[in-house]
Amino acid sequence: MGESGRKKSVELPANITVRDLAQAVNASPIEVIKVLMANGVMANINQLVDFDTAAVVASEMGYEVTLEMPDVEEEKETGEIPFWRRLIADEPQEKLRPRSPVVTILGHVDHGKTTLLDAIRKTNVAAGEVGGITQHIGAYQVEHNKQIITFLDTPGHAAFTAMRARGAQGADIVILVVAADDGVMPQTREAVAHAKAAKVPIVVALNKIDKPNADPERVKHQLSEVELVPDEFGGDTIVVPISAKQKKGIDDLLEAILLVADTMTIKANPDGRVTGTVIEAELDKTRGPLATLLIQNGSLSVGDVVVVGEVCGRIKAMFDYRLRPIRKASPSTPVSVMGLSDVPAAGDVFQVISSEREARQMVVERQQMREKSSASPKAAITLEKLFDQFQSGETRELRLIVKADVQGSLEPIISSLKDLSSSEININILHAETGNITENDVMLAAASKAIVIGFSVQADSAARNLAEAEGVSIRIYDIIYRMLEDIEKALKGMLEPEERQTVIGHAEVRAMFRIAKYGMVAGCRVTDGELRRNGKLRVLRAGQVVYDGEVGSLKHLQEDVREVRQGFECGVAARNFDAFVTGDVLECYIIEKN
Ligand code: GDP
Repeated sequence: MGESGRKKSVELPANITVRDLAQAVNASPIEVIKVLMANGVMANINQLVDFDTAAVVASEMGYEVTLEMPDVEEEKETGEIPFWRRLIADEPQEKLRPRSPVVTILGHVDHGKTTLLDAIRKTNVAAGEVGGITQHIGAYQVEHNKQIITFLDTPGHAAFTAMRARGAQGADIVILVVAADDGVMPQTREAVAHAKAAKVPIVVALNKIDKPNADPERVKHQLSEVELVPDEFGGDTIVVPISAKQKKGIDDLLEAILLVADTMTIKANPDGRVTGTVIEAELDKTRGPLATLLIQNGSLSVGDVVVVGEVCGRIKAMFDYRLRPIRKASPSTPVSVMGLSDVPAAGDVFQVISSEREARQMVVERQQMREKSSASPKAAITLEKLFDQFQSGETRELRLIVKADVQGSLEPIISSLKDLSSSEININILHAETGNITENDVMLAAASKAIVIGFSVQADSAARNLAEAEGVSIRIYDIIYRMLEDIEKALKGMLEPEERQTVIGHAEVRAMFRIAKYGMVAGCRVTDGELRRNGKLRVLRAGQVVYDGEVGSLKHLQEDVREVRQGFECGVAARNFDAFVTGDVLECYIIEKN
């Protein structure tokens, strides 16, 4: 902001709270609220307004307004670099050769990702094969202007959040599909966050322009608000209007991809260390484990020994995306392979190892490592460890997924969290929404190394289990101030270790009987893990917590015991609770310091 010349000028971000807007234009919040009201916008002081609205207010107050552009350099330094990019960076420069760009399609549900993938496949796969390709291997290649483009074909619906996060990691370019009749939606924002975190450039496919209610201009403005400023507005995002359904604009889109690819260095060493990512994998009834691999460096040949996660094997046969057998595949090629000992996980990294003995040894070591570390959850991001990670330069970003009970509390939470960002640490809110914390939130957090923050909400039991397995940290608060205080402390390395709940077992209530000292006691069978006399106890009924407290007494065949293991019967009394019902699930947990 400055007072140059006759008219004052001000730079405003894509979204701003009324309070900050008032400060930016040197006015009181009340004055700003009045101008907003005069323009038909009812807003409170903590409410976020978009750039367009803020610009109206600022210009009415005598300012010339420009959109604040994100600092590109700073953005480049935050986020993380996928392993294969680091690997390629280590290859001798003179050995690097151009490879075809790998593209993934992201976007909100129903905006036309599948239709677009089909349209590209049908219009551009070599002639003579049109309609002939019915089987999917999770990726395919097309030719445009004599250049090859590789498309990852991973599903894009909500249940695949984690895969999508990984999809963005494997790609050079993201096509963001936005329906011209619907505009920027929550999953659009999520996709932008993923692509930015992976530092992958975005080309926007403005889809469904054939629809009578399509409003491309409105969508372009919305795109500017998520920092994808279309080139016609002076930004650097290419926006290509298309109709996936009518197969219009597809060539322009492919052209745009090649244009963006031209500005990047898309290279690999075809003779270097062979490595890449698992795109999809399944168990085929007749052929055994089948995996689609994307080769990212080196060349994969039939007969190579591959290790991926805790799976290894010698490649017995290899097929291209048309399922034609091939013997060797170079960087950016997707292939379907046979010969692995088991089904690997999508998103896992594979590498070629010189001998089968060495490969088996690696797998054994990895299994041992996992067993050792499974006692403690996976090394994910926690608020307590954050400071060390900042200090070591491992990360410069705190990623958050925010869930709140009502929209009204979400907005002030987001804006106050954003205020904590500094030049050293960027606070990146990947996703913010109202509602309880679900498995999907945890999946997104795990895939993008984020922390889940809940405000006056609960985490359902599926989400809690997944968080525990994945080592994702969930923090729930009732008071905004407490949450901000914790994060501020974490950023300064002053946060005390949090108590962590670890579920150690479950039992099912089969009958109730009365014991004078305790009232109703539950007769149960331990279904997994164990129950401990000194453990904490939750009673779950239809997935809801009806009691959370402590084990009062634990008996096995009338004897007081310290623990009862899976498969055994026991009698359980809870402290200050006896309203058990047949079918209740008892969850025993312990509290540990992180
Ligand atoms: P996805 O959920 O993003 O994969 O979306 P789909 O590809 O399944 O498309 C959702 C719906 O939008 C389907 O009914 C499509 O036929 C329709 N659709 C997709 N692209 C277009 C388009 O360009 N124009 C029109 N009119 N409809 C489209």
